[in-house]
Amino acid sequence: MAELAAKKIGRATFNELLSYHNSWQIGGSADLFIEPESSKQISEILRFVLKNDIPLVVIGQGTNLLFDDAGVRGIVLKIGDRMADIQISGNVIVTGGGAWVPQLARQSMRAGLTGLEHCIGIPGTVGGLVMMNGGSQRKGIGENVTNVTLLNKEGRLRTLKQDECDFTYRHSALQGTGCVVVGVELNCPKGDIQTIRQEMIKDLQSRRHKFPRKQPNCGSVFLSSEEMHKTVGPPGKIIEAAGLKGLRVGNAEISSQHANFIVNLGGASSLDVLTLIKQVRQRVRTRIGFELDCEVRYVRSDGKLMPAHIQADSI
Ligand SMILES: Cc1cc2nc3c(=O)[nH]c(=O)nc-3n(C[C@H](O)[C@H](O)[C@H](O)COP(=O)(O)OP(=O)(O)OC[C@H]3O[C@@H](n4cnc5c(N)ncnc54)[C@H](O)[C@@H]3O)c2cc1C
Repeated sequence: MAELAAKKIGRATFNELLSYHNSWQIGGSADLFIEPESSKQISEILRFVLKNDIPLVVIGQGTNLLFDDAGVRGIVLKIGDRMADIQISGNVIVTGGGAWVPQLARQSMRAGLTGLEHCIGIPGTVGGLVMMNGGSQRKGIGENVTNVTLLNKEGRLRTLKQDECDFTYRHSALQGTGCVVVGVELNCPKGDIQTIRQEMIKDLQSRRHKFPRKQPNCGSVFLSSEEMHKTVGPPGKIIEAAGLKGLRVGNAEISSQHANFIVNLGGASSLDVLTLIKQVRQRVRTRIGFELDCEVRYVRSDGKLMPAHIQADSI
């Protein structure tokens, strides 16, 4: 890894604490942490990793990730503000994979483009959002995506059209492929700036009111599904109905403000969060008869990513 760090591959640091790079503020250190600034640099890193069989984890703002307390025995690649260019021409927006989602939403609003109002309060990067097909109000970013530019795990540049990405609820075909999203093209119809602005203000006000803001968290922990929504309601309601608001393990707690949020009260460990996830799943299964799966991804120390409930069930 020292050989790679010595090359011109962006900002590289050894033993970087991952708790500085995710919104839960949890996790040990990465052997090597790199913030690249070009596709060429990423391609070089990907080729090195493949050749030397080194674990690699790609992250954006870490707002949907739970890192293990042991950190990552390998390389963590952060696609962030060094690859965050946003360009708008007519109805077309072209953005770097590291662009900050609220910034993208704001710029589209200023250009009088509609469709991204639901993204204004999502604190991740465009790459992370596309990967997760994230969104709110039961929408997903995939609805507006026309092309995704990525580097495959061999380090080759490819462009996928919307239909090749297979966007479904909080899912895309890019998950688990080891690719790095470096650019996204979106198409948004023209709209009325004041209406778009009002819609965004409404969304932000509702988030301020509903979500815990002062304690570190990772947004919604559990996934919703249409069937669940129709019969028993969204995960937050179900967890609350099971009497689990305020349930605490170590320094992790089910938020008393919104039951689909787990907050770090200070110094929570990954094990605290996983144990809490396990307990919530068990109690909801017994009391309400529904299986709650996680939206949040757990990052094992060998660099493998999985929905956090899979790891929680194994402890
Ligand atoms: C307060 C709060 C509110 C939230 N609200 C919402 C919401 O309303 N809707 C919603 O959908 N989500 C929400 N989230 C979750 C999160 O913000 C989104 O999933 C976001 O899109 C993740 O982006 P990120 O850059 O943080 O990705 P990360 O958490 O860093 O990574 C998420 C996944 O994407 C992969 N990834 C990240 N960047 C790249 C890249 N460039 N190339 C390849 N793979 C990549 C990672 O490997 C990982 O699998 C919220 C989170 C918080 C903390």
